[in-house]
Amino acid sequence: MTSDLGNCKQCGRLFVIKHDAALCFECSAEHHKKLLAVRKHLRDHPGQTAAEISAAMDLSLDFILGLIRQGILVAS
Ligand SMILES: [Zn+2]
Repeated sequence: MTSDLGNCKQCGRLFVIKHDAALCFECSAEHHKKLLAVRKHLRDHPGQTAAEISAAMDLSLDFILGLIRQGILVAS
């Protein structure tokens, strides 16, 4: 039996890849927390663009665009 090891895209730590995840456990937990915060922000501020969300939440535009690309957030 083989385990697929990979480097976390976020912190570079070596970890066992499960379900094609690109992030280690710590980073994916952090990612999930940010995602929930962005979703809540969008509920309170519907219709904001990715750039506006990024500025308002002090998150990188790449992070917001990534969520939209993955279909996790719907761009307005
Ligand atoms: Zn990581």
